[in-house]
Amino acid sequence: MSQPPKIGLVSLGCPKALVDSERIITTLRAQGYSFSHDYQGADMVIVNTCGFIDSAKAESLEAIGEAISENGKVVVTGCLGVEEELIRQTHPKVLAVSGPQQYERVVAAVHDAVPPVHNPHLDLVPPEGMKLTPRHYSYLKISEGCSNRCSFCIIPSIRGDLVSRPVAGVLYEAERLVKAGTKELLVISQDTSAYGQDIKYATSLFHGRQVKAKFYDLCAELGELGAWIRLHYVYPYPHVDKAIELMAAGKILPYLDIPFQHASPDILTAMRRPANQEKTLTRIRNWRKTCPDLAIRSTFIVGFPGETEQDFEILLDWISEAQIDRAGCFQYEPVKGAKANQLDGAVPDEVKKERFERLMERAQQVSAQRLAEKIGRTIEVIIDQVRTDENVAIARSKWDAPDVDGQVIIDNAGGLKPGDMAKVKITDSDAYDLFAVPAPGSGANQ
Ligand code: SF4
Repeated sequence: MSQPPKIGLVSLGCPKALVDSERIITTLRAQGYSFSHDYQGADMVIVNTCGFIDSAKAESLEAIGEAISENGKVVVTGCLGVEEELIRQTHPKVLAVSGPQQYERVVAAVHDAVPPVHNPHLDLVPPEGMKLTPRHYSYLKISEGCSNRCSFCIIPSIRGDLVSRPVAGVLYEAERLVKAGTKELLVISQDTSAYGQDIKYATSLFHGRQVKAKFYDLCAELGELGAWIRLHYVYPYPHVDKAIELMAAGKILPYLDIPFQHASPDILTAMRRPANQEKTLTRIRNWRKTCPDLAIRSTFIVGFPGETEQDFEILLDWISEAQIDRAGCFQYEPVKGAKANQLDGAVPDEVKKERFERLMERAQQVSAQRLAEKIGRTIEVIIDQVRTDENVAIARSKWDAPDVDGQVIIDNAGGLKPGDMAKVKITDSDAYDLFAVPAPGSGANQ
């Protein structure tokens, strides 16, 4: 059995830096690393620096130099880490640099320098972590919080502004999940397209390469892992356009979950969201030119304060124009602490309900028509469940996220198991689901 890698740690500075060091070694210990008290016994060294005053900076730079000459593999973190240029100029051989409290970046840099060794006899946690989803799909959280201020939402006041995870941490997690059998990664956050803005798109080391914490770069890297990559909670910003090219090239799934919430400019303004839905419509049309297979899922709120019949009709027409493949709808409810509670023009409950039903009916028409266009095609699906007694498998296409979208119901599915990818021929459709049979050579017993 291979020995766990040994890490050396030089911890300089104040008690806060010491607590950071403790968190880093606790995380590494839980991942199976062990520690060395001297440079020679270590496979690599972490130097947690201090940058408080000039003499502390000099001491930190000296400690980095000593670790490089004694060991060679050195990752720098801590307060002096904010002066990355100074560190790299003085010690070009340093492997990675991160600032204070950036535990995840340090751990990612350690993984990059000396990958963890999983020991099934000692580790309580499998390499992919503990999961609550089936083995074949996993959620991948890329950030916490949100820097938008939509008037109906209190998430920013509960979870704070956007805090993006370092990209190497996200990518190593994704890679571990795929190695452990995940075939579909669902990228989630409150605002996926804003990924990295808060950390100024900081780079981090992934398998020896510097990767930027940027929406497109993240999508491109994930697209190389050989799994289905599905994007949730994306906003139609211009920089999303480039990701559509990755979809057209088959690198990530042709699927976007964009919570539009409304289409009437007045209501969007009251919601404190971008209000130019005409421009968004043009953007969607261009996306579909680049990637005709693109499916768009969205959620909408009806009965927002001040919503008139005219606003609502703008929304209905927009859903048809934008050809929203999958739509969810909520009847507006005040949330304690939300700014929207101060708005006039409350919509009566019976009107909300009636608009909800009309919206769902319109969404169903669009969905049914778009699904009917797929009849006759042969597509790849992922199997979620098999009902052996009925010889039926319940699967999803690249246009269906688990739990929220439709399904592909496969007849004559003998031989298929949950987690399999299979080729099926679409024979029929209804408002939300597709019906199919295994395509020749798909692995199912036909
Ligand atoms: S609705 Fe979404 S984008 Fe708006 S503030 Fe809440 S979490 Fe952020």
